[in-house]
Amino acid sequence: MMKILVINCGSSSLKFQLINSEDDSVMAKGLCERIGLDESRLVYTKAGCDKEITVSEMPDHNKAVSMVIQALMNEQSGVIDSLSDIDAVGHRIVHGGERFSKSVVIDDEVVRAIEECNDLAPLHNPANLIGIKACKELMPDIKMVAVFDTAFHQTMPYKAYLYGLPYEYYEKYKLRRYGFHGTSHSFVSKRVAELLEKPYEELKTIVCHLGNGASICAVDKGKSVDTSMGLTPLEGLIMGTRSGSIDPAIIEFIADKENESLKEVMNILNKKSGVDGLSGIGSDFRDIMSAMEEGNERAKMTMDTYCYQVVKYIGAYTAAMNGVDAIAFTAGLGENNSYIREQVCNYLAYLGVELDTGLNKNNGEELLVSTGQSKVKVLVVPTNEELKIAKETLELLACV
Ligand code: ADP
Repeated sequence: MMKILVINCGSSSLKFQLINSEDDSVMAKGLCERIGLDESRLVYTKAGCDKEITVSEMPDHNKAVSMVIQALMNEQSGVIDSLSDIDAVGHRIVHGGERFSKSVVIDDEVVRAIEECNDLAPLHNPANLIGIKACKELMPDIKMVAVFDTAFHQTMPYKAYLYGLPYEYYEKYKLRRYGFHGTSHSFVSKRVAELLEKPYEELKTIVCHLGNGASICAVDKGKSVDTSMGLTPLEGLIMGTRSGSIDPAIIEFIADKENESLKEVMNILNKKSGVDGLSGIGSDFRDIMSAMEEGNERAKMTMDTYCYQVVKYIGAYTAAMNGVDAIAFTAGLGENNSYIREQVCNYLAYLGVELDTGLNKNNGEELLVSTGQSKVKVLVVPTNEELKIAKETLELLACV
């Protein structure tokens, strides 16, 4: 039995799961919050037990990692006896640029190459690297693997990743579409093939990863051929607080009218737009749904606008792949919001999509929700990025 520690490190947070590879079960999981700030705390859950919260100073990520290790080895609520029980660590890395099209075993050269991608994801990559360094210091003998959010999309052809900008920006800065949520899109599209009992290499699947962050991916014969996020995770769909794609001239317009700096406008596009900005209610769709049910017109307008964007991408990606066999919904909304799935599918009769509205009322489980006659299959597939990271880690280490 192998135990893989999966780490997702942000600038002030660190999420972890210890996964048992024998049955893919989560032995323990948790989150360090407010690292480097006051009132930092560790939330830890052993499988089958209640949450435990430890409030403790965490001035840096090294302290956070050492608290995670202590929690995992705790006499009462721990799940391992010693550090050597951890066979490997899998790190989620946001940006792998053009350099990484697959997961890799981490060595000094890999760390340097990830550092070189910092410009492309200044909020995320440096934090991911801090996580790698902290783990390396505290667990020097344990092998580590980097799994990139962008890697799955490296199969996109140039016509999908180039922007209509001076080509020299691509040459000088590697300015292009990269796409994100690759671990999820890859996991879900593979699962679709398994559930439909079809070879992965023969299917045309559109994966709708609809969470706080949201992206859609066209997976043709097992390869990502287009995706809605771009150089950064701001492009594409309307999201919880992100605008998604807009006319680029809007940036200057807002800056002029509101007398804001470029930085402030970007903050508005990232943190105050999307469903939050449109509805004036918040970014959580549960609140938007309740408001809509109570007759709030802006909530209804927000939902309609959101669903319409999803529909347009499905249409575009069907065209890009010259057809579609399956549409999969995943992440917080995709898995749990039957209303959105129904609204989206209502537009797609022209493709031969026929939703089983009864089946579609089920939420949170893996399920085929189209009818037997539906030409295009519609599925709900809960994503599991941590499990996918653990599996990739294990696979790579088996080859080393
Ligand atoms: P993140 O991108 O932060 O991981 P999630 O995938 O958790 O986001 O998605 C968040 C969205 O999913 C929220 O708007 C929320 O309303 C919705 N959501 C998550 N879980 C549920 C649930 N159990 N029931 C209904 N909606 C849910």
